[in-house]
Amino acid sequence: LLQLYGPLNFLGSVYSGIRTALVDLEHMMGLVDESIEVADPAHPLPIATRLADAGPAEVEFRNVHFSYRPEREILHGVSFVAAPGSKVAIVGTTGAGKSTISRLLFRFYDVSSGSVRLDGHDVRDYRQADLRAAIGVVPQDTVLFNDTIGYNIAYGRLGATQEEVEQAARLAQIHDFILSLPEGYATQVGERGLKLSGGEKQRVAIARTILKDPRVLVLDEATSALDTHTEQEIQAALKTVSARRTTLVIAHRLSTIVDADEILVMEHGQVVERGTHEALLAAQGRYAGMWAAQGGEAATEG
Ligand code: ADP
Repeated sequence: LLQLYGPLNFLGSVYSGIRTALVDLEHMMGLVDESIEVADPAHPLPIATRLADAGPAEVEFRNVHFSYRPEREILHGVSFVAAPGSKVAIVGTTGAGKSTISRLLFRFYDVSSGSVRLDGHDVRDYRQADLRAAIGVVPQDTVLFNDTIGYNIAYGRLGATQEEVEQAARLAQIHDFILSLPEGYATQVGERGLKLSGGEKQRVAIARTILKDPRVLVLDEATSALDTHTEQEIQAALKTVSARRTTLVIAHRLSTIVDADEILVMEHGQVVERGTHEALLAAQGRYAGMWAAQGGEAATEG
């Protein structure tokens, strides 16, 4: 953990103005060791960041080309629209470009050509702090602060009342667990406190995001499956947090995205197939092959 602290502190000073779960975000994005330079516009467009204030946002990738380094293009013209409140899933092999898409949505990097748009405007037209406040993320692995479990949830929206924190915890199905702890919401967690399981940490992250109430949600599904019971609890909590919210899910288990409004199948930086689960099965292409490889129907019953 000490190894992690240096870079996190460094990022803390870089992004000192951004107080919203950025540690998680940077960690999830695998960017802890990189400093990224994207500039705020001189006259940023205002944008409402909370679902309660403005409803879900529209997300669009319009013919996006992108390279981390000039000699190697990673995304070769990716286009899709996530209508307000819809759920778009991205699947594909490792290295296909799935995480890159979420990094571009948060504008950790700028596109080479094309545009990433939120509510019909290029993300470059907004202040970065506003953009990142409007988008929430539930990462694969959540880093907890060495602080109380209550603070770890409240971090989603500093200034929230205890009542609001507990309501978020209830919706994330972690409230009863917290009450069972020796000091309830005041229980110390993190490296120097109580160690939480992967499933518990993820529900803390979900509660934090419910409190943040962003207009867009990015779910980065864990590669390794949790046990069935934990998995069901997590799925129920994720359903709550993604309800009504425009949701982009980077999926590994296809059983969790059968209800997606659109599934994008990515390969080598391109969308090679797209459609609903049923349409993609009927097309008998790559997605159908992946579905069969994951056990087909059995995967949804388990
Ligand atoms: P996925 O999430 O689908 O596994 P990624 O979006 O992480 O794929 O990566 C897409 C491609 O971009 C891969 O070839 C990967 O090696 C490359 N890549 C990812 N991050 C960086 C980086 N920071 N610098 C250079 N290349 C990168």
